Order: sequence, then structure tokens, then C-alpha cells
Amino acid sequence: MLKHDWFEDVKLFTEQLVRIRGISPSAEEVEVARKVLALLGEGGVGALYTACGLDAVEGDSYGRCNVYAFLRGQSRKTLVLLGHIDTVPVSDYASLEPWAFDPPELAKRQDQLVAPGPDEVVNLDDWMFGRGAADMKSGVAVNIALMRHLAHEASASPLPLSVLMLATPDEENESAGVMQGVRLLLQLRERFDLDYVGVINTDYTTALYPGDPHRYVYGGTVGKLLPSFLCIGRESHAGAPFHGLDANLLAAELIRDLSMNTALCESAGGEVTAPPVTLHFSDLKTHYDVQLPFAAYFYLNVLTLTTDPSQLLQELRRRAEEIMAQMLQRIDDMHMSWLRASAPAAALHAGEARSGVVMTYAELYQEVAQRIGERQVAAELNEEWQRWPAELDKRERSLHLVHHLWQVSGKQGPAVVLYYSPPYYPSVPAIAGELQQAITSVMDAHPHLLLQQREYFPLLSDLSYLYLDPAVDLEGLTANMPVWSDPAITSRPGSYSLPLRQIQQLNLPVFNLGSYGFGAHQRDERVLMSYTFGELPQLIYEVIARLGAG
Ligand SMILES: [Zn+2]
Repeated sequence: MLKHDWFEDVKLFTEQLVRIRGISPSAEEVEVARKVLALLGEGGVGALYTACGLDAVEGDSYGRCNVYAFLRGQSRKTLVLLGHIDTVPVSDYASLEPWAFDPPELAKRQDQLVAPGPDEVVNLDDWMFGRGAADMKSGVAVNIALMRHLAHEASASPLPLSVLMLATPDEENESAGVMQGVRLLLQLRERFDLDYVGVINTDYTTALYPGDPHRYVYGGTVGKLLPSFLCIGRESHAGAPFHGLDANLLAAELIRDLSMNTALCESAGGEVTAPPVTLHFSDLKTHYDVQLPFAAYFYLNVLTLTTDPSQLLQELRRRAEEIMAQMLQRIDDMHMSWLRASAPAAALHAGEARSGVVMTYAELYQEVAQRIGERQVAAELNEEWQRWPAELDKRERSLHLVHHLWQVSGKQGPAVVLYYSPPYYPSVPAIAGELQQAITSVMDAHPHLLLQQREYFPLLSDLSYLYLDPAVDLEGLTANMPVWSDPAITSRPGSYSLPLRQIQQLNLPVFNLGSYGFGAHQRDERVLMSYTFGELPQLIYEVIARLGAG
């Protein structure tokens, strides 16, 4: 295999891209997209692509766009190279924030970024610091260098296969770029009669343990759901707590059980997900008073490998029922001992044991619809929807809808209503096939790099939206997500939807063969230059060559 020298080009492109801020969501991402397109075409190379340009994200309030470049080869077989051009914010840099996008200046201040430790970098000169250096302007730079090189080759004689590069905004936010990208991939497939073999994402990878010498290649990707809990207590004066139920106590008991509980970790294909954690918790009071808070809510970040939305909801309902029963039993006991101490005569006439209910949003909806009619429920929810501005956080809008439905139901707490808030990232399994074979044989050809393949890329990424397992029960998601709207029917301001049908039409095998670094989303973010700028593009180049020979 011909070895090409990629290093200087990829280094230059990376640094130039890092220098343009691209925090998502913002209009800065448009600048990065323009720069990517300029780098792809620099020096007359632009004319060598079959097609290239910017593709606007439909209805995007920041005017953002994807960048793409396409080389039609001799065969329909097409590899997709994917990367994202946006970054997370930079407040974590604190006093170094002015240089967050300036690798040379950060390099002068390395000692403030990296605490010397046993597994720390042997040679600090091999690292480039900066927001986006590892996650993942360097990965985009690799794809640019590959496309430029392939374009030159194609100008001499057509490539044996077709290659399409796609660079997306908004990956660190809501993946608006790749949703648009799905449509673009379908259009290009139609227009050029293509057969996609799969996608290689060049996103951030890192060590899995201190001193880990491996470089990881992933097939498939982790998914995520955001199950949410509306906890209903019972109103009462704080002086008579046993007449009511503190909704915060109910929420706290649930959180104690669910958050960081390894029993909820999932393992498959040698991967284990991180345990769930809450991302937000609050009661619904807006001012001070001496009533017991009678409604509270929280949502839980749950990473998934094979569990689908219906299965997760069932498991959470089972746990919530158990927790609620235990808590009510304990309150019954407390009540009794308090009565014995404060009013022994009353203790003889203690009331019935407390009971509560756990239900899903879909069940609550059904119940209310049966009572007041489907049209009336829709009207109630519509009115609640209209009360809030389109920009309202989608988690908050979800809460208002569920809480309103609860109020319309006329039901009494204690209760837990389980529902889903956006976003939803489907997990994707590793898929055998031509691309998998090509990657494996290239890995085998470079034993000195200690490449290892694992299933499920462990970070949330755009890859989730390029494949959708036909076996996934989506009803469990859509019927329990109050802000869901079917993209085929309407796109309502403030709603959430995914182009599920289009994703299923694509269903690409997904891989991550990407940059290597440390500290993504942290101030010590840095990319290992020798591997990422030199070895990585060569590896992908060889995968392309093998696909072309096959
Ligand atoms: Zn990334």
C-alpha cells in the first residue's frame, strides 16, 4: 500500500479550523462550514469533485448548513466519511478562555492545562491543545485531506469506488445537521444511483484506562433516552405533613434508587454503559409558602445498547412501583409512631394504609380520553401548548403538558407519571459486511498500532441517526413523548421529531475510526498529532483502497 505523507496538511487544516469558533448552537458554525468548503476546494481542487457545496439545514434559525464533497467513482459502491464541525462552549477554560481557540498560545501554557501524572503524555510536543482540536476539527481535517488527495487521484483516472464526505453542525447540541444530512444522503443516492457501504465517522477516541496503549475502532454506537418523572404528592400544611405527601420526598426516593445505580447499566458486545444520572430536578413551586410541595419532576440520562424505549419504560415503572410502596409503608410506620407519641388515643384509630399509583403518559392520556373524549384531551393539550413560546426548553414544555393532563384527569396523588423528554438517540449495533471486512483487514495489516475493535462507540454522536433497527418498538417512545410530532404530519413550533422513516431508508452500517486525544469537553482537550495527523488518514485511505479492490 502506497504510504502518503498526510501530516502537514492535516495539521494545518486542524489548526485553521480550531481558530474559527464553532460553538453550537450558533451562527459561528456557518463560518466553520465555509472554511471547510474553502479548504476542500483550495488550489483548484474544487473543480475536481463530482459535486460539492453547502446544504442548508431546513428551517434553522441560525442559518446553518452541512458541507459535502462527492467523488463519483467507477462503481455505485459509496463510502461516507462523516464529521462534525461544531464544539461545546469554552467557559471551562476559565482564565485561559481567551486562548481556547488558539493552539500555539495554549501550548505555551501547557503547564496550566495538564497536571503531571503517571500516565501523562511522554512528549508534550506531540499534542495540539484547543477546543475542538480532538473533538473533532482534527477528524474533519483528516476527511478534507483524504478528499483532496482522492480528488487528485480521480483527475488522473476514476476511483474504483465513490466517496462522499459530509460535515455537520449542531452535533454537540441536537444533531440538526445530520438530520438534514440524512435527506441529502438519500437525494444523492437517487441522483447518482449510489449504493452506500456504510459510514466512517472520525470523531474523538481516547484511552479506556491509565496507560492504555490501544487505539480503538468502534462498530455501532451507544444510544440515549431521557425518561422523565412527574411526582405527585398531596397538598397539606407543613404543620400537618401526615395529611399530605411531600412530592420532593417521593422524587428523592426515586432518584436515590435510580441515579448512579449500576443495576441499570446495560452490557452487550463487551461494552457496559455508564449508569444513569439525573440531569435536572425541581419541584413546581415558584414562590415561598408553607404548603408541602405537591408536584416535583426530574429527568434521567440513560445510555442504552439494546434496550428500546418500551423496555426501559417497563423496567422504570417496575422500580418506581417498588420504591413508592416502600416509601408509603415507611410513612405509615412513621405516622403511627408519631401518633403514639403525640396523641395515643388517635393511634388506635389510624386510617387505612397509604397507596399510590405509577402510570405512563400514554396510560394517563388513554384514561382521560375515555372520560372526556379524545377531542377534548387534544384541545386541552393544545391550549397548554399555546401558552408557551416556541423557544421554551423542550424538557420544560413536556413537563407542562404532562402536568396539565394530570390536572385535567382530576386524579389524586401520590402518583408518578413516567414519560419521555427529548432527545432520543437510537443505539446502533455493529453490522457485518464489506466495510467491516475492509476495516478488519487494514487493522490486521498494522499490528504495531495496537488497534482494537469494540462494539458501540461510547459517546453520543450523529451516528445514532444513520441506522434504525427495524425491531425497535417506537410506539413506546412516540406515545409517551408529549412533544413528539410525526414529521410526516406536522412540524409544530416547539415540537420534537426525527426523520425515522428516512433513517430506516438509509440504514448504514456505522463505524468510528477517529482522532485520538484526551480531555474532550474539558480545558485540557488535546489531540495526539502523530497518530491523528499521520496514521489515521493513512488507515482510512487503505480502507478505501480495500473497498475499491473488493
Ligand atoms: Zn465529537
